[in-house]
Amino acid sequence: MAMPKLAPVPVANDKLRALGILALNGMFDEMDAVGVLRYAVSDVIPGDLAIVSSFGADSAVLLHMVAQVDPSMPVYFLETGKHFPETLAYVETLKRQFGLLNIHGIHPDPADIKRFDPNGDLWETDPDSCCHIRKTEPLEPITEQYGGWVTGRKRYQTKERGVLPHFELTSDDRIKVNPLAYFTDADVVEYRQKHNLPEHPLYAKGYKSIGCAPCTSVVAEGEDPRAGRWRGLNKKECGIHYDFSGAIANPMKAANRHTLWKDGAFIADPFKAWEEGTNPSEARYVHVPLPVFLAHRAEFLANPHPLGLLVSPGDKIEDVADDLSRFASIAILFPSFTDGRGYSTARLLVERYKYAGEIRALGDVLQDQIPHMRRCGINALVVTHEPTRQALIENRLPEVSVFYQPVGVTEIPLGTRPFLRRVS
Ligand code: SF4
Repeated sequence: MAMPKLAPVPVANDKLRALGILALNGMFDEMDAVGVLRYAVSDVIPGDLAIVSSFGADSAVLLHMVAQVDPSMPVYFLETGKHFPETLAYVETLKRQFGLLNIHGIHPDPADIKRFDPNGDLWETDPDSCCHIRKTEPLEPITEQYGGWVTGRKRYQTKERGVLPHFELTSDDRIKVNPLAYFTDADVVEYRQKHNLPEHPLYAKGYKSIGCAPCTSVVAEGEDPRAGRWRGLNKKECGIHYDFSGAIANPMKAANRHTLWKDGAFIADPFKAWEEGTNPSEARYVHVPLPVFLAHRAEFLANPHPLGLLVSPGDKIEDVADDLSRFASIAILFPSFTDGRGYSTARLLVERYKYAGEIRALGDVLQDQIPHMRRCGINALVVTHEPTRQALIENRLPEVSVFYQPVGVTEIPLGTRPFLRRVS
């Protein structure tokens, strides 16, 4: 499935705007789903409408309607690289049986995958970022090419969708058409049976809402059909839908959202803050406070997951000298601009203990401190101070050319004469 090169088209929703979104929704409140879709295609935005389909459990119903109304309507499938093989087979089945003529796969940028998810496990630590690079980012240039989008969302699916209308006007002046907004679970089953539609191969196994394999689980009887998506996480949408006020539900922009600066860019942070009560044997991708590590040392050492260490002022890095190789990342807390103890910790890690992993600064990380932090071996920064973030993005950091306390052998201490300078 190749991605087509389409010329941008003007947004053609004058009619919708003139009618008023409320009036239009009132007119179509009682209309059946195919009628809504037919009107959208013929009158509201003719030739300027496309659909993104997950080819999940309910997708056949809407795609069957699309095939009846306009089989050449562009259908986009977010090929995240994380789908069940059954879903990929289902794409081919529906394409063939319905005669859909215009299906395209949208793939994530390989550079984004390499940079943000080289091990393919970002979904586990930061699903928002995983959805961002696999869905939101690749879809953005495609959405710009159309005046409107058809979605398969339904009111009954989640509390958040409980008032979903047939037509939505988005903040960027595009139209979302939701022909199935009023469909119930029973309506879906009835439509499927009436038209003898092929079922997703996993539906009978208890998967009621199907997305990427790592983030989809079986739903128990009586559960919300989407309860199996991102189970256990406070996440309901993948960020590509629009809310009712017209704004994009989760307009996630990596550069704005991430606070970890590493290798010249703000990137997704696999680590989370330590929470009290976390089981030392099951902790993963957290910076364990040094005293907590010492109190449960045996359990942490037996824990197979990636761990970090949090060093606060007053903690002695010497106490964990033998275990430093256990940590993928060591976070040094700088509680205030004037507290310089973190610099000494960083130098001990690099110079005495030859620690070669990530050393990150967090806390009061400000623009003027960063050159000094780097000199001491800190190679990652957690930055929330907005002017400092901008300075990093624009590569505007102060230069430091004189030193009272030189680091290594290349820095020259202030006030010494050439023949007295250290050479080793
Ligand atoms: S649904 Fe899961 S695997 Fe798929 S893009 Fe989102 S977080 Fe990643």
